[in-house]
Amino acid sequence: MQRVTVLGSTGSIGVSSLKVIRSLPERFSICGLACNSNLKLLSEQISEFMPAVVAVGDRSACDSSLFRELKSLYKNIEFLEGDSGIRELAGRPCDITVSAIVGSAGLVPSIAALDSCKRLALANKETLVMAGDIFIKMAADRGVELIPVDSEHSAVFSLIHNLEQDEIERIILTASGGSLRDYPVAELDNVTPEIALKHPTWSMGSKITIDSATMMNKGLEVIEAHHLFGLDYDRISVIIHPESVVHSMVETVDGAVYAHMGVTDMVFPIMGALTWPEKTRNSFGRLDLAKAGSLNFRAHDNEKYPALDMCYAAGRKGGNVPVVLNAANEIAVYAFLDRKSGYMDIVRTVEKTMARVAYIANPGIEEIFESHREAVDTALSLIREKKI
Ligand code: NAD
Ligand code: MG
Repeated sequence: MQRVTVLGSTGSIGVSSLKVIRSLPERFSICGLACNSNLKLLSEQISEFMPAVVAVGDRSACDSSLFRELKSLYKNIEFLEGDSGIRELAGRPCDITVSAIVGSAGLVPSIAALDSCKRLALANKETLVMAGDIFIKMAADRGVELIPVDSEHSAVFSLIHNLEQDEIERIILTASGGSLRDYPVAELDNVTPEIALKHPTWSMGSKITIDSATMMNKGLEVIEAHHLFGLDYDRISVIIHPESVVHSMVETVDGAVYAHMGVTDMVFPIMGALTWPEKTRNSFGRLDLAKAGSLNFRAHDNEKYPALDMCYAAGRKGGNVPVVLNAANEIAVYAFLDRKSGYMDIVRTVEKTMARVAYIANPGIEEIFESHREAVDTALSLIREKKI
């Protein structure tokens, strides 16, 4: 029996992780659950999985009567509070940690988990975008297996398993093109959160759904792939594939291209990460290629998706540049969702923030946090003062 901690248990990936774990009761049990504020869903998860430890990040959720009720109802469970509680839970011993907190808030718990688990199933791509060089080295030094959960990286991970590095020509990440792929470029300034949140193929949290619309998500995934697979940026390509049936591809030096196909549901890459290297029979559905019909591929349009090139440039420049890009994007996406700025302001905010924060070539972890804070403040004031 392997003991699993799920960081971000109430989110889209967290809920899918628990679905996988529920389906394999003879293999997995839950030892820790952490979330930000959704106590209603958390209380259902506690009563079903009976973890040893629970952590809630949001301070006002910790002050609520529901949280007090949970504490008095489950006297055998240890309840931890605030960011420090999330970090403490992430550092408690377990076999596998699923890192599925959204955004930059996932970095500190991911780092804490490296000291306590044997395998890290990594959904939080921001961990690698912000601190890839340091994080990959830390995982290797501690002997922690790092298994990607992001569907594209999960696909590549399984495809390159038996390949030598010099046999790989390049990897090709597929992108759905997001909710606005057929939207006219001239009208993008008028896009509302409702329109941008309607993802055509994947059901996900709101931040990543907006990131998919701008293709910032694919750009972050390019940086994630660079760190996970140790490939230069010119060996990582992106192609739009509207059906999301091919999860990604690997081209070998002889010109062959291997594609990983499957149902569009995150339970598959999550199960893959939990049970790797085994293949597990399951009842989560099967790909019906006849039903899928034709599969299409096309190059992306720079005018519609400037974020992708920005991410390549940020990744190539390295240092603290991806940290700044990620922080500014996070602020701009939530400002757009809160209707405080427009859709096209997302990339403009990122561009302007990147121009204002000083470059650091080889940031240590403290400088990474410092660059993150500086970029957050810069992006917030750009939006507040309407200087975008
Ligand atoms: P989500 O918004 O649905 O869920 C986020 C989870 O993180 C929730 O449980 C929330 O309570 C928790 N959380 C948020 N802020 C927190 C904080 N400050 N402290 C503690 N917990 C906090 O997000 P999601 O779509 O599940 O995405 C999670 C991560 O997985 C992201 O990094 C995303 O890029 C990545 N990812 C998601 C998908 C997907 O299909 N949803 C696919 C690939 C990768
Ligand atoms: Mg992905």
